[in-house]
Amino acid sequence: MTDCIFCKIANKEIQTNLIYEDENVVAFNDLSPQAPVHFLVIPKKHYSSLNEIDSKDAFADIFSAIPKITKKLGIKEYRTVVNTGAEAGQTVFHIHVHVMAGRKFNWPAG
Ligand code: 5GP
Ligand code: ZN
Repeated sequence: MTDCIFCKIANKEIQTNLIYEDENVVAFNDLSPQAPVHFLVIPKKHYSSLNEIDSKDAFADIFSAIPKITKKLGIKEYRTVVNTGAEAGQTVFHIHVHVMAGRKFNWPAG
């Protein structure tokens, strides 16, 4: 999608240090980290939110990448968050999973 910042990161139009990449997914550190470790995992294909995901493969691609990355980083405990829609806190409309670690997280999330 032309005007999507995460598409630009995924297709390398915007130079970003990728901490993980495979055929379908990339991961990179959040610009505004909310924890000592805070990275985002996104599919290379544009889906504006979770509501647009239409295949098991897309979920599998995103979520199966997470333990590979956390293992590489030596992280065993972490919070994953997917904000869907503005009211839920979504600000970038290309689906992404937040992965955060390195501090204690409260529940319920605010
Ligand atoms: P949301 O609020 O949509 O769930 O999360 C969007 C996240 O993307 C925010 O945590 C924000 O800091 C991060 N973000 C927005 N633009 C950029 C960017 O250009 N580069 C990186 N690395 N993160 C971004
Ligand atoms: Zn996009």
